[in-house]
Amino acid sequence: MYLTQVLHNAVRHRAAYPLTMFDGRVRSVAECVDRVGRLAAGLRVLGVGEGDRVALLAANSDRYHESLLAVAWAGGIVVPLNTRWVADEVRFALSDCSATVVITDERLLPVVAAVRQSAPVRTVVVMSDGRPPAGMVSFEELIGGHAPMPDVGRGGAETLGVFYTGGTTGRAKGAVLSHDNVFASAWGCLATGQFTTPGGRLLHAAPMFHLADFAIWIAGLLTGGTHVMVDGFTPGGVLAAIERYAVTDVLLVPTMIQVLADCPEAERFDVSSLVRLIYGGSPMPAATLAAARRMFPGAGLVQAYGMTELAPVATLLGPAEHDVPRLAASAGRAAPHAEVRVVDAAGDEVAAGVVGEVVVRGDHVMAGYWQRPEETAAALRDGWMHTGDAGYFDDDGYLFVVDRIKDMIIVGGENVYSVEVEHVLLQHPTVAACAVIGLPDARWGERVHALVVPAGDGADGEQLRAFCRGRLAGYKIPRTVELVASLPVSPAGKVLKSRLRQERVR
Ligand code: ATP
Ligand code: MG
Repeated sequence: MYLTQVLHNAVRHRAAYPLTMFDGRVRSVAECVDRVGRLAAGLRVLGVGEGDRVALLAANSDRYHESLLAVAWAGGIVVPLNTRWVADEVRFALSDCSATVVITDERLLPVVAAVRQSAPVRTVVVMSDGRPPAGMVSFEELIGGHAPMPDVGRGGAETLGVFYTGGTTGRAKGAVLSHDNVFASAWGCLATGQFTTPGGRLLHAAPMFHLADFAIWIAGLLTGGTHVMVDGFTPGGVLAAIERYAVTDVLLVPTMIQVLADCPEAERFDVSSLVRLIYGGSPMPAATLAAARRMFPGAGLVQAYGMTELAPVATLLGPAEHDVPRLAASAGRAAPHAEVRVVDAAGDEVAAGVVGEVVVRGDHVMAGYWQRPEETAAALRDGWMHTGDAGYFDDDGYLFVVDRIKDMIIVGGENVYSVEVEHVLLQHPTVAACAVIGLPDARWGERVHALVVPAGDGADGEQLRAFCRGRLAGYKIPRTVELVASLPVSPAGKVLKSRLRQERVR
């Protein structure tokens, strides 16, 4: 199968169906297919040959969606870049994958302009309604100036894209994903009946460059949905889009859900059209989950656990399972396309209830990291992707992800999961955000250290430690609490605990 195959049946069967909605602009399947064919022809003229990398650095829009499709249509390899990266990170990725063409938008032009000279980029294509700066190519003129080319039809095991990981544990790595990889994950999710259903209105509120959103994008293309985009995350903007476009499906990461829950005007919007709220990408605090339920009482909650390297889904927790209290902290069961195991350091499977590393095998697992044979060999062993996540299965095959292995703290031989301690601290009203890390300790090897961003006045380290007593075993209670104004986060909004550790160990 190949990505753009989804368009060929669609244009025969329902040419007039609305495929994208953005900023009041609706484009039908036929219109989109025409534009994609023209854009692909234009990219060819710009020198994009089969297997050449085309980077995308832009906010969500209907043009972003067309760009993803057009690169594949032309036979290229798409490289979606993180829009929150600073110039150095963008330069690194462009050089890493040697992209010669970048498609960007007006807002991100300054970043592209800053890196252009020192990156391999030959051509910059700008998505906008106006004229691009001199020396750059207009996206609309590229479409208007070329007749549609036939689809190259590159697909199957060939590379669809290079997708950079979140950069939470170090520099982002380019996961090489084939067409087969992303379809394997999408089919598996759809087979559970818990993912998007035919004719849905899918809202792209999370950034489309991230594989999490890609998951519902592909699923929506397969089920013939309409894709609605918002070009930045503001709580009012997202809630207004749900109301205005009668959105049925949305994917959000936990931090976004919390921002929506904290939005004072949330009640003003009619979000009753929402059938499904898919979330995942990082651990979900119980309070945030409860807030999601209150905000969207009519929507079924679906949790996905996965990673970029898994294109992206490994396990799913469906709506009915969310009603079972003991599963509240579970990431669900293996999706049909994924084999999921928990193994010890020797690679042997451990018994239910025992924590080990989560490993995953299946047709969705990446071929490797772009030009990084050593990291690939470390991550992929005997076909199993070693996730770097610690977790355990219960007796019914439900996976509980407890922490990243790199973030676990070992106090006198006892494991402390940073996430568990954070979730307890977050229950305290004076804690707005927190991160728990291990620091060296002469006696115990490591000690638990909590960094707390206070909510208003009155946060107090001793009081928080007291709060943890009775809720956590003694060795898990933060020995030291540090109040901070903010926490460093990755471009995806995940706390950079490795940096916090480094800063405190030096
Ligand atoms: P990098 O690999 O560059 O350090 P990253 O791991 O954050 O960054 P992603 O591929 O975006 O990059 O994130 C995958 C990780 O997110 C998983 O390995 C896991 O730690 C976490 N994660 C994803 N989904 C869930 C979930 N449902 N529950 C808990 N953690 C999750
Ligand atoms: Mg990772």
